[in-house]
Amino acid sequence: MKAVAVFPGERQIRVTDHPAPKLESPKQVLARVLDVGVCGTDKEIARFDYGTPPDGWDHLVIGHESLSEVVEIGGEVSRVKKGDLIVLTVRRPCPEMCPACRAGRQDFCYTGDFTERGIKQQHGYMTELVAEDEQYAWPVPRELRDVAVLTEPLTIAEKAIEQLWEIQARLPWACPSGPGEKANGSCHHALVLGAGPVGLLGAMALRVYGFEVSVYSRITHGDPGDQVVRAIGANFIDASKVAVEDMARQMGTIDVVYEATGASGLAFEVIAQLGNNAVFIFTGVPGRSGPIPVPTDLIMRDMVLKNQLIYGTVNASPTAFESAIRNLGVFTQRWPEALKTIITKRYPLEQAPELLTGRVQGIKNVVAIAS
Ligand SMILES: [Zn+2]
Ligand SMILES: [Zn+2]
Repeated sequence: MKAVAVFPGERQIRVTDHPAPKLESPKQVLARVLDVGVCGTDKEIARFDYGTPPDGWDHLVIGHESLSEVVEIGGEVSRVKKGDLIVLTVRRPCPEMCPACRAGRQDFCYTGDFTERGIKQQHGYMTELVAEDEQYAWPVPRELRDVAVLTEPLTIAEKAIEQLWEIQARLPWACPSGPGEKANGSCHHALVLGAGPVGLLGAMALRVYGFEVSVYSRITHGDPGDQVVRAIGANFIDASKVAVEDMARQMGTIDVVYEATGASGLAFEVIAQLGNNAVFIFTGVPGRSGPIPVPTDLIMRDMVLKNQLIYGTVNASPTAFESAIRNLGVFTQRWPEALKTIITKRYPLEQAPELLTGRVQGIKNVVAIAS
C-alpha cells in the first residue's frame, strides 16, 4: 500500500510502497485512514531534525494526527465496531513500564523510552491502512467526520486545561456557578499566545470552559486566524502593533497564559506581566537559538510574591481525547464556520511531500487519504 515516509539515511521524504498491516491480536482493530493533519512536528521530521524509524526499518511512515474508519476488529474488541470512525492516540508505553506508563499515563513517562506513532520508532498514519490495539482508539460521532482530524491537536489544550483545574484547586479559584453546574473559568482572563492551530483550538476550548479569552498574535497576510478569534467571542490583539506591556495593560489582569508559539523571548516577556495566583502554560517547543536576556529578579520576585506557577505540558491523557472529541461537538454547534476555517485545505497523498517540505500557507493542512 501507499505511504508517505521519511528515509533519514537518504535524507529523503517520498511516497513509498509499505506492507499493509494485519490484525496481530484479538484486541486489535484494522482501520482505513481518511484524514491526516500536518503540523510543525511533521515538518521538523521532514527536515530530519528528529523522527526515528522503527528498529530494522530504513524509513518511518509519518503522520500522527489522524481520523480513520474501522474495517475489521479482533475477537476481543468491545469498544469499537466495524464502520466506526476513530481517532488513534500517538504515544505508547516504554518497555520498562515505568509507573506512569503502567498507569496508562505514558504522556508522563519517566524513562523517556516511550515510542510515538509517526514520530519515534513506530510507523505513523499517513498511509492507507493501520492496525492498533483498541485501547488506543477513540470512537468519534459521524457528525464530526469533517473536523475530527483536529482531535489530536486539540488534546494538547485539553490536557493543559485538565491540569489547570487540578493545579488551581490549590486556592479558592472557582468562579460563581449555579447549583449542579460544572466548574467554569468565567471570572478569569486567559491569554493565548499564537493563532496557529494549537492556539486557536486552545482559545476555543478556553471559551467553552467559560474563560474570557484574548489571543495575542501577528496577523499574517491572507490567514483568517484573527477572524476565527473574533467569531468565538475572544479578543484579538495584533502583536505587530501592540507591545507586550500595552497588551497586558489592555487585558487588565492575566490569570492564565496558554503559550502556543514556541517563542521563548515572547513567553518570558509575558511571564513578567502575570497577575496574582496566575498560571503560565508552555506547549511550544522552541527552535535552537542563542541565549536572550531575561529579567530574572523581577520574574522570581513576582513568582514568590504573587504565588505564580509555570508548567510545561506534552502529549495527552486518555481523558483529554474524550474531552477533545466532546468539545469538537460543542465547537461544531457553536461556531461551525470558524471551526471549518481552521482546516485550510485537503490535499491528495501524492502531494504530501510538498506539504511537509514546502511553505504551504494556511492554518491546518490535511492529507485526505480516502473519503
Ligand atoms: Zn501534531
Ligand atoms: Zn514510561
